[in-house]
Amino acid sequence: MLYKELCETYEELQKNPSRLKKIEILSKFLKKLKHESNKEIIYLIQGKAFPDYSEKEFGISDQLCIKALEKASGISKKEIIQKWKKIGDLGLVAEQVMSKKKQNTLFSHKLTTQKVLDNLKKLPELVGKGTVNKKMSLISELLTSASGIEAKYIIRTLLNDLRIGVASGTIRDAISDTCFNNNNVSSEEIKQANKAVQESYDKANDFALVFDKAIKGIKSLHATELKPGHPLKVMLALKAQSIEDGFKRVGKPAAIEYKYDGFRMLINKDEKGTIKIFTRRLDEVTKQFPDVVKYIKENIKAKSFILDSEAVGYDPKTKKYKAFQDISQRIRRKYDIEKLEKKLPVEINVFDILYFNGKSMINEPFEKRTELIRKIIHHHPYHIRTAEQIITSDEKVAEKFYKQALKDNQEGIMIKNLQAEYKPGARVGFMLKLKPAENEFDLVITGAEYGTGKRGGILSSFTLSCYDPKNDKYLEIGKASTGLKEKEEEGLSYIELTKLVKPLITYEHGKEVKIKPKIIVTILFQNIQKSPTYESGFALRFPRVTALRHDKSLRDVATLEEIEKEFKRMELKIEY
Ligand code: AMP
Repeated sequence: MLYKELCETYEELQKNPSRLKKIEILSKFLKKLKHESNKEIIYLIQGKAFPDYSEKEFGISDQLCIKALEKASGISKKEIIQKWKKIGDLGLVAEQVMSKKKQNTLFSHKLTTQKVLDNLKKLPELVGKGTVNKKMSLISELLTSASGIEAKYIIRTLLNDLRIGVASGTIRDAISDTCFNNNNVSSEEIKQANKAVQESYDKANDFALVFDKAIKGIKSLHATELKPGHPLKVMLALKAQSIEDGFKRVGKPAAIEYKYDGFRMLINKDEKGTIKIFTRRLDEVTKQFPDVVKYIKENIKAKSFILDSEAVGYDPKTKKYKAFQDISQRIRRKYDIEKLEKKLPVEINVFDILYFNGKSMINEPFEKRTELIRKIIHHHPYHIRTAEQIITSDEKVAEKFYKQALKDNQEGIMIKNLQAEYKPGARVGFMLKLKPAENEFDLVITGAEYGTGKRGGILSSFTLSCYDPKNDKYLEIGKASTGLKEKEEEGLSYIELTKLVKPLITYEHGKEVKIKPKIIVTILFQNIQKSPTYESGFALRFPRVTALRHDKSLRDVATLEEIEKEFKRMELKIEY
């Protein structure tokens, strides 16, 4: 397929903000892609060259793109930078300079999607001496045979900023529309097809594979396999209002477990014995946790597996458990790992198993899975163990266990359905969380304001947003600065948050900036009010930033519906 055809699709997608229209445009494109042997072209729609489970990144800076443009167009770097300053988008600059060039030269061969994919795929593999030049050659080779519009999208892809407004839900619906929507299907069948595509994607995290399977039919989608080493989306929890509510929703007897206050870890061991650890956002963190790799090797006797667990920090001297925010630095730290490992040790609390010795376990009842982990894991407190658990139908027993969990410094309890399968990526109510502090939400930063005085040049107030899935939008719900520290050594500081959000600024006006939604924070608040000030229609009163959530992804951001529910619940609480 010619890259030109893909670029025409990009243009159409960019021009049409409506989600339904986007699905229609994508379906038209996928119908063509159906006949291509390499379905990986679908990654280019996502602005990538690799499946979502892959951690590979192009690692290309603005400066490198400018150099490549200079080489391909013959226009000086200085002139390119001048244009960039004026237009503000390097993609548009590329379009301008390459269109100019094309007026004078007849280019020898047409650019194909395969060639773009091939060159993009080589980029992350380059390391060591001469990397920059080699990367530049790969890019300028593409640019040399590109038209203006093609150059625009090559640059935007390289800079991870495609701007076509296509989220993974849109791709999912387009795949199902392409493969299952014909004149004789009912809306129920379409719903089922959407679901099958989503489930397959949640297991594989690879749209090329899912598309290939969808072409073959629903059965093939259902047969999507898990692969240890390829991260999959974890199953998510819903809130229970009380123990009674919990039992009502998951049935009796239920498994009740400690809800540990740490971060989720998916631990994979493949048939070759390679161990890989992922966060719930599917980021690989194996290098950051050599201690955990060791605990797994020493304490689990099995050929291959995927375990779901929570890593909890504890004080190495007193052995007292610590809150998530005290150990969150371990997820990101890439240096001095050994030192940090000693200072902030973690204990792995395994609570589920999704794959065992070459077989998927996700369709087995939880009862069986929880039994299995207790069989294969050698209990070693402060290294690795299975989650504290009781199986009961008795509310009083459950209540006592809940109190004990809180006494042991954990967040609360999880109430689990013993007969349920494991649904990757879904919030289906097979496990419910119950904790006392309800007034806490994970929200995403979408704006900020520069401070004055000693905070001059530093962003000092952060606009928080919740998610509206109906319109695929992030809606403002408040501003927070309380909870942040002045000095970096004291914890999460204004300076650290400024550093994180600055590269994500999309718009600046006076002291105010708008920020691409990416950075997630946990916010504690006292109350929720209705408010015309914010787009969400709600405002948080006295919000306080308690933690930076590198481990969570945009799909974990509180939804408008959850906020509404909490608002109603709090109103009720005030009334009674
Ligand atoms: P939340 O992050 O508030 O949505 O709560 C759900 C999270 O609790 C899960 O994603 C896990 O990271 C964590 N968790 C802690 N203990 C358990 C457990 N025993 N079973 C399942 N999840 C747990």
